[in-house]
Amino acid sequence: EDEKRKYVRGKKLGEGTYANVYLGHLRHDPSQLVAIKKIKVQKEYTEGMAPDAVREIKHLQELSHPNIITLHSIFSSKDQNLNLVLEYLPLGDLEMLIRDTDRVRYGAADIKAWTGMLTRAVWFCHENFVLHRDIKPNNCLIAADGEVKLADFGLARSFADPYKPMTTNVITRWYRPPELLFGAKHYSGAVDVWSVGLVLAEMVTRAAYLPGNSEIDQINLICQGIGTPTEENWAGVTKLPEYTVPKEVTPLHGKNYYISRFGVIGHEGVDLLMKTLILDPKKRITARDMLKHEWWHKDPKPTLKKNLPKKS
Ligand code: ADP
Repeated sequence: EDEKRKYVRGKKLGEGTYANVYLGHLRHDPSQLVAIKKIKVQKEYTEGMAPDAVREIKHLQELSHPNIITLHSIFSSKDQNLNLVLEYLPLGDLEMLIRDTDRVRYGAADIKAWTGMLTRAVWFCHENFVLHRDIKPNNCLIAADGEVKLADFGLARSFADPYKPMTTNVITRWYRPPELLFGAKHYSGAVDVWSVGLVLAEMVTRAAYLPGNSEIDQINLICQGIGTPTEENWAGVTKLPEYTVPKEVTPLHGKNYYISRFGVIGHEGVDLLMKTLILDPKKRITARDMLKHEWWHKDPKPTLKKNLPKKS
């Protein structure tokens, strides 16, 4: 195909769960670097990555936003592998910054800046009827100018048709919202908001807040760390196909609980965090309303992107 001929593939940059990533450049201009992500073909396709993946991902080419990784091109090679030509972002991701506690220092203003960029990315997806569904620090890539770019739309799909059941086996476990853990078939942008909340919490403490080692453990951690989902705080939850919670009900934690753990982002920051971690997806804050929150205007102001900490 023609799209394929536009690029020259270079050395392997890394290997992911379902893809190999290569450096590449434009054939007519070798100074224009790209990342070529070659999705491994699996014999048994999971629902989210069926052969219609090309069509699914194609519309992401139109999602143009400073906080969303640019998808330059998409083509399938003769072995039927799917090749995504992406913006080349060699400075790593938020996870690397969060984990490198020895060398990377950051504070409330930096967290506010990163959270703002991530929230704008999610807002833009949702405005365009796209759910990301796999938001985690490792999918927040850092551009040379400091911009956070949401990547890995492998599982993203349009939610324009709310009556089409969607697969529930999405989102890395730690960032997975309770409605998916309970097997809800119809879900919304609220799934991404939950993940953003957990990324925010993790930036603050530099440790995952709900690091479940199985689905059951994940539900248990949510009950302990947030509160037990019940009919009182979430009407209809007990009717979800896979609803199970520990017998011992934990009441929802109050503001002071979150202040003691996440207080460095201030009262307003904690207020926003709590609204992203509301159990009932219908009551959870939307990305749009997150952007209207008072936190953004309180001191400290978000760090200018050129001054944000970077991988050394
Ligand atoms: P994961 O399964 O960890 O999400 P990916 O398949 O997205 O991994 O990518 C594997 C590796 O390739 C990453 O760890 C990173 O080093 C590199 N990589 C991925 N995307 C890009 C990109 N757009 N620019 C530069 N390097 C990238």
